[in-house]
Amino acid sequence: MRKMKAVMKAVAAPGLSLAEVDVPEAGPDDVLARVLAASICGTDLHIYNWDAWAQSQVKPPIVIGHECAGEVMEVGANVRRLKPGDRVAFESHIPCGSCYQCRNDMRHICDHLKILGLHRPGCFAEYVSMPEVCAWKVPASVPPEVVTLMEPMGNGVHAVHAADVRGKSVAVFGCGPTGLFAIACARAMEASAIFAVDIDRHRLELARVMGAGEVAEGADPDLTGWLVRRGGGYGVDVAFEMSGNPAAIRNAFGALKKGGTLVAFGIPSRPVEIEWSNELILKGRRVLGIVGRRMFETWETMQRLMDSGRLDPRPIITHRYPLADFETAFRALSERNSACGKALLLP
Ligand SMILES: [Zn+2]
Ligand SMILES: [Zn+2]
Repeated sequence: MRKMKAVMKAVAAPGLSLAEVDVPEAGPDDVLARVLAASICGTDLHIYNWDAWAQSQVKPPIVIGHECAGEVMEVGANVRRLKPGDRVAFESHIPCGSCYQCRNDMRHICDHLKILGLHRPGCFAEYVSMPEVCAWKVPASVPPEVVTLMEPMGNGVHAVHAADVRGKSVAVFGCGPTGLFAIACARAMEASAIFAVDIDRHRLELARVMGAGEVAEGADPDLTGWLVRRGGGYGVDVAFEMSGNPAAIRNAFGALKKGGTLVAFGIPSRPVEIEWSNELILKGRRVLGIVGRRMFETWETMQRLMDSGRLDPRPIITHRYPLADFETAFRALSERNSACGKALLLP
């Protein structure tokens, strides 16, 4: 059996470890890829810290990681679309292909969804095996550090595409990586004005770099008043709630125009109370719940935006580490107020 280095959740406790494990098999419908670059997501931090959510999802021992760029090394007997040497990104959500959602073009909310690095050995390793259906072929000219960011950036593309922002004013609440990607996508999809809100000034600096025209402190008592004035006295057309913070959710409604769209992406840790009548019904607003990426409409849209040069995720990369230095990377990401966008792991 061939061996490889991988970052494992070896036991049901906080932390991760570097291990020598078997190179995964490529089944008949799978591709085996060499990992060229991987990136760390908030999900991986939950697994590292071993919080209640991680405990409910992950059964150690398992190799973690779900964002990566790969080069196809081997293909299974049923694989037709890909061949060794192809460069790929992976859709990390593995749909079953046969449930009601899958049969109705909603594979991103499949009833039996499996996730790379949670339910199947992940990509913080030298090799990863994934079903061919989840492999998104990219031109060999796209750098691996860009390719690995397609999976997380796809959340932003999905959110912004669903809200149809062209010519509209938008406010983004929460400038973690997905908020920053949403800002870049809103610019690429020609929003007329982009406002970014966060409590961390480093993140607000990144928000400007990604395309926000103006930024504001989340704790500013005049925040919603300011956004309403910026929206011509009526409020903004689209509010993206990317943080899951109850105060930010209230502010997102407070800044939104009547008839506007609230895009809900951030996941609150507890149920949130909203004034259903005044915030939603009587103002004629709509709320869009966004999860994952549409397979594969989101990927098509993202690839076109990247090919046209309008969407480039690279300014968000703030840290790069060899795979073996994963511990330093996770520590850096866990520290508050560190100027952290995305950290890459390079096997
Ligand atoms: Zn992720
Ligand atoms: Zn399904």
